Amino acid sequence: MAADDLVGRARRARATEALPYWKRKSLAQMSKSEWERLCDGCGLCCVNKLEYEETGELVQTDTCCRLLDPKTARCRDYANRKKIVPDCIKLTPKVVAKMDWLPRTCGYRLVHKGEDLYWWHPLISGDPETVHQAGISASGRVIPEDQVEDISERIVDWYA
Ligand code: SF4
Ligand code: SF4
Repeated sequence: MAADDLVGRARRARATEALPYWKRKSLAQMSKSEWERLCDGCGLCCVNKLEYEETGELVQTDTCCRLLDPKTARCRDYANRKKIVPDCIKLTPKVVAKMDWLPRTCGYRLVHKGEDLYWWHPLISGDPETVHQAGISASGRVIPEDQVEDISERIVDWYA
């Protein structure tokens, strides 16, 4: 192999290493810690959706899982969530690929689709509060489902 080829290959390798992990690794290649940090903390996946039986259409509500803290948009017992809320969906690379209802801003969905994270993602901003400051999180915008009489009366459009 020519010396120029080796230099070019070494430069390309260095350029790839310089990329942040979410740009050079697939979801399946990430470590547990990298995977967890990809969550921006928006809490939108814990917001209840309703599906119309006849059409399969999904609509959003301003109600959330009973375990979500509506102020912080964080799960109040993340480690034990499956024991407390058995139908809580554990995200994995395969689940992310199948779930078309994940919010369009979700870090997992963005990386799965080959898109970049937004400026307010804590991995970019370095600040877990920017997701709330940017106004895209569920913080302060939801009511736990056990405090609501009829979820079907709570339909909203989160992106309106
Ligand atoms: S929608 Fe995605 S980024 Fe937001 S809390 Fe859920 S998993 Fe994390
Ligand atoms: S159990 Fe926790 S992580 Fe699961 S949907 Fe409820 S609030 Fe979200």
